[in-house]
Amino acid sequence: MKDCLFCKIERGEIPSEKVYEDENFFVIRDINPAYKVHLLIIPRKHIASVNDVSEVDDAIFSSIFRVAKKVAEILGVEESGYRVLVNTGKDAGQIVFHFHMHFLAGEKLREL
Ligand code: 5GP
Ligand code: ZN
Repeated sequence: MKDCLFCKIERGEIPSEKVYEDENFFVIRDINPAYKVHLLIIPRKHIASVNDVSEVDDAIFSSIFRVAKKVAEILGVEESGYRVLVNTGKDAGQIVFHFHMHFLAGEKLREL
């Protein structure tokens, strides 16, 4: 998608701090971290939100938690713990409409 922020980051048109990448996902540090560790796990394919996930994307999403686990190992938080979450739509506060999973860690997280 030409004007999508995360598609631009994926193409390297906007700089980012990349923590991990593979065939289907790239993982960057959030520009405005809410916690000591705040990453975004982003599919290379433009999928706007959970509402736009379809069966053809099953192959991509089947590995998303393995990516989260890999990232936890890279950051050294697999034992201390972490939270993954996906905001969907306006009530959840989604502001970037290219699917992304937040990865939060590095300190005690607020209870939900
Ligand atoms: P949402 O509210 O859509 O779930 O989260 C979007 C996230 O993207 C926010 O946490 C915001 O700080 C982050 N973000 C917005 N613009 C940029 C950017 O240009 N680079 C990076 N790395 N993160 C961004
Ligand atoms: Zn996009």
